[in-house]
Amino acid sequence: MKTLLRGGYVVSGRGCRRADVLIDGEKVEMLGHIPPELAAQSEVVDVTGCMLFPGFIDAHTHFDLDVCSTTTADDFESGSKSAIRGGTTTVIDFACPNKGESLAYGLDLWHKKADGKCYCDYGFHMTIDDWNESIESELDAMFDAGITSFKMYLTYPAMMIGDGAVYRALKALKARGGIAGVHCENAGVIDARIAELKASGLGADVVSHPISRPDYLEAEAVSRLLRIAQAAEAPVIIVHTTNRASLDEIAAARRRGQTVYVETCPQYLALDDGVYYDPDFSSAARYVCAPPIRSQEDSEALWKALRRGEVQTISTDHCSFTLEQKDMGRDDFTKIPGGLPGVETRGEVVYTVAINENKLSLGGVCRALSENPAKLYGLYPRKGVIAAGSDADIVVYDPGASHVLHGADMLSKAGYTPFEGFRTNGGVSKVYLRGQLQVDGGKVVGGKMGEYLKRGKCAL
Ligand code: MN
Repeated sequence: MKTLLRGGYVVSGRGCRRADVLIDGEKVEMLGHIPPELAAQSEVVDVTGCMLFPGFIDAHTHFDLDVCSTTTADDFESGSKSAIRGGTTTVIDFACPNKGESLAYGLDLWHKKADGKCYCDYGFHMTIDDWNESIESELDAMFDAGITSFKMYLTYPAMMIGDGAVYRALKALKARGGIAGVHCENAGVIDARIAELKASGLGADVVSHPISRPDYLEAEAVSRLLRIAQAAEAPVIIVHTTNRASLDEIAAARRRGQTVYVETCPQYLALDDGVYYDPDFSSAARYVCAPPIRSQEDSEALWKALRRGEVQTISTDHCSFTLEQKDMGRDDFTKIPGGLPGVETRGEVVYTVAINENKLSLGGVCRALSENPAKLYGLYPRKGVIAAGSDADIVVYDPGASHVLHGADMLSKAGYTPFEGFRTNGGVSKVYLRGQLQVDGGKVVGGKMGEYLKRGKCAL
């Protein structure tokens, strides 16, 4: 049986146009004017006036991750269910072996966490938190397993590797057509500032979190990484970029001729650092993430960079903890588990701010949420576009709808949303995953049909 979505506007990175969409099985068969004899064989779904986006891709999630001596609130089941409800048909999570463990072990562990439990399709990046001959010898097997992107950290003792190791890893990845996303914050100076804040009696104050990790210490790490990438002659991705100073370093590297891809997240686009100044611990602690949420000016700089194509993707860094878990840091801000839920709300929050405040065009929204992540992470044109032959991953977005985001309504197990009280412009009405209706009327009606995606090489 075919499905015909009739009356909608198909959105791509170039804008939107009136087109009906015919789905046959898991794939889009054709779009535009559908011949009547084909329409007659189809189940017709009226989507008059709705935007049809290619399924959103969230290339930065952390489901079922052990961190800060606890485990994220969302596993792959609740995380992917939360994702699909918000229009995200693909997540790319970070497989994360511990130091001393092999990449193969980490990959196997992430398959055990995810396989058979997902409401949306999924892939993995592989974390490189150790560098030696043994790890390097595993890279080819990772590419064979469909892992073409990797993650490195310039901070966090449990995960960071030294500058020399980053250099060697970037070269080894480049030789294989791979790429790395890097968490850029200075490690040593941030630790020293944390010690100073604690010594001056501010160890229980949530505001110490952003004070200890200022924008320029992120920019320092961005600058250092980009100079290491220059030496390695390798492209690189700056993940969860938050501020203008970092964007300046990226612009300088591009002027030198380097290839740099940039990701940001909704919390850096739609919130500002005022959230940390709430006198109620729990109200402020829920926003603790690294890098921290920055100033309004930084948010403006990120939107401008999105408009100019200098930031390519918006992912969430979904890393959810309940308020009870956040409470572990009531007496010591460094014990607040860092991370925010967001996989459920990304599409609606980005669409709303982009359109209401004229920050980004519809095509720009589509590029940041779908098209660019598909290209950057080797999924295009199977994902990231509504075109003949592509997977029928389609978000039916009703621009006439509106609702208010509340933590209590979320499928995420975090139990709160950083966007509490946010009124959306439009809303996700239906979501198709490979031709199957997974969400209808804002409710998940489908099952755990998500499949592992073997990804190809970067093509952005
Ligand atoms: Mn992350």
